[in-house]
Amino acid sequence: MIRKRYLGSACGLLLLSLLTGTAIASSRELPNPSNAGFAEKLYRLDCGRSIANDESIWTPGENQGHSIEFSSTCWLVKRGNQWLLWDTGVPEATATDPNGWSTLPKLILYHLDKTLTGQLAEIGLKLPDVTYVAISHTHGDHIGNVTLFPDAEILIQRTEYEWIHGGNGPNENVNQLMALARRLMGNPRNLRLTDGDLDVFGDGSVTLISTPGHTPGSQSLLVHLKNSGFIVLSGDVVHLEENFAKSRVPSLNTDKQASIESMERIRQIIKTYKAIMFINHDKKQTDGLKLLPAFYD
Ligand SMILES: [Zn+2]
Repeated sequence: MIRKRYLGSACGLLLLSLLTGTAIASSRELPNPSNAGFAEKLYRLDCGRSIANDESIWTPGENQGHSIEFSSTCWLVKRGNQWLLWDTGVPEATATDPNGWSTLPKLILYHLDKTLTGQLAEIGLKLPDVTYVAISHTHGDHIGNVTLFPDAEILIQRTEYEWIHGGNGPNENVNQLMALARRLMGNPRNLRLTDGDLDVFGDGSVTLISTPGHTPGSQSLLVHLKNSGFIVLSGDVVHLEENFAKSRVPSLNTDKQASIESMERIRQIIKTYKAIMFINHDKKQTDGLKLLPAFYD
């Protein structure tokens, strides 16, 4: 908890570190912007697309009854000879199902044009080549293929894992999502439960950032690349650029106040690291990004 507070004022910390000469990484897990290590490559994978029939769930007070199209994105990070997959998208079986797939059938329908397995093969990788699978949160469109990686280390916040295995949520939609999450997660044999931020490779190249609110243990990912600099992969800390600008919180989120604080935390991180953010479900933004086999470096 202390660490989380600390990081909420990353800018202040930077100022403090400049004044005192101490490293910003005194928070232990957040990278020092001036000497963080690099990941070599960052690939975007197409992990599904969806149509929801009521945009106002994500934009309370606006767009009632309007349908909206979302992207679903997974990211693959190469660091040395290791590969980290960020989220796993909707289940691969969706690709051959003309009816699509859903997490909440009354609200949203997913389609999948390309499988994860097929996209990895495009760059010469097989499923067992993935060393780490990091999960932003346990909604079905992010964990649909976790069981394809039985040997990978699965990185998930302890709070998130305990939440889906705990009691009931605040409403039926959330309960449905939790039940689906338990089914899709299965019992990974190489599960690593994390508490707050985590410097995955110990060199500041890839850092899990705790951003609770959408779900109790939601997280984002900060990746450092030589040419592109720092990139924040949103997870579902925000769904749309406009929501980020307005601090707007979807009604499905489990904690509104925590959601607002997590968006603020990401704003500070963007400032401190001069980072750009790729927003997982923002189709308009996603359509303009590189797609595997192209990559960011
Ligand atoms: Zn979600």
